[in-house]
Amino acid sequence: MTSEPRTLVFDRLTRPLRELRVSVTDRCNLRCAYCMPKALFGADHAFMPRAELLSPPEIARAVRAFVEFGVRKVRITGGEPLARGDLVEIIGALRGIAGIEDLAMISNGIGLDAAKATALRDAGLDRLTISLDALDDARFRRINGMNVPVARVLSGIEAGEAAGFTPLKINVVVRRGWNDADVLPIARRFHGSPHIVRFIEYMDVGTRNGWRLDEVVPAREIVARIDAELPLEPVARNRAGEVAKRWRYRDGGGEIGVITSVTQPFCGDCNRARLSADGRMYNCLFAESGLDLRDPLRGAAHEGDQDDLARLIRDRWQARDDAYSEHRAEHGKFRNPPDESAKRIEMSYIGG
Ligand code: SAM
Ligand code: SF4
Ligand code: SF4
Repeated sequence: MTSEPRTLVFDRLTRPLRELRVSVTDRCNLRCAYCMPKALFGADHAFMPRAELLSPPEIARAVRAFVEFGVRKVRITGGEPLARGDLVEIIGALRGIAGIEDLAMISNGIGLDAAKATALRDAGLDRLTISLDALDDARFRRINGMNVPVARVLSGIEAGEAAGFTPLKINVVVRRGWNDADVLPIARRFHGSPHIVRFIEYMDVGTRNGWRLDEVVPAREIVARIDAELPLEPVARNRAGEVAKRWRYRDGGGEIGVITSVTQPFCGDCNRARLSADGRMYNCLFAESGLDLRDPLRGAAHEGDQDDLARLIRDRWQARDDAYSEHRAEHGKFRNPPDESAKRIEMSYIGG
């Protein structure tokens, strides 16, 4: 174990590897229309068999290899991470890795009670993001596809607060005609609180959500709508690679962020790798193929095998030239709707 990277590793566009998103399951208790549309993720949908998922020690060994090359921020995602019965064990295993400075998780908050939130906190989770796409109950039920009331997310948020995760991040994917009317109510609700709401442009991830450009609400429009009632001013970035553009309320009522993946892509300093629940490394949210790390992880028997794993990761990152969102914007290649024949990975598999 080391707290200093043995060496930083850069890709072909000189972007260092600094962050890792770890999906721990492809299962979820919701069927958000923009992510796992119910018609396509029905009762007969084949999720990954449990034996194919990395175990907590396997996840930890994989992550340790990434940390050796400079990863300092790790975010647990899914599917829905709370669907993993051994989530606390996963967090604990990752907390034991020297060098991880920020261990975060994103969840839909359904079923998060104070006991679960406290167990995650005690196991070493630093930060929590909860997704909340609408405050209006009817709209929330429609979006999540399972008729789940918004009160359940709000109680998940309370559980996060009670466990000491304040400030929380609250993620809102804005989709025109579905929840754009919730932008202001959500901003108002968290204005004056320590929590940071992040409004996200609806992205063309995967091939199954029927994405259309005219359903994207540009971040500029989101900021203008909020600013008209609650005046905002821009805030400087915290660090390179930060995905959200920051704004703060002029009256001191806190901060929001906007994630402009479609209208102002930020591939230029994208320093994030992704690990799927079945142990594949992906270099981009829009990748079509990943590198299998599970076989090397499971086949490993000797100390030196950790070095082999690290070498695989390094070589893969060094070969990286992904910049999907920038190319899409430059070439105007907005597919409308996405091409069903493409093999691109789904959000519920890789976790955002
Ligand atoms: N189930 C958890 C949740 O919803 O927070 C974690 C996984 S979810 C895939 C991670 C994030 O991706 C959520 O904030 C979700 O709203 C966002 N997301 C999913 N599909 C998206 C899309 N097409 N465009 C933008 N964000 C999306
Ligand atoms: Fe599940 Fe999250 Fe996807 Fe919604 S966005 S279907 S909660 S994985
Ligand atoms: Fe990074 Fe790919 Fe997103 Fe660009 S499109 S910011 S390279 S994940």
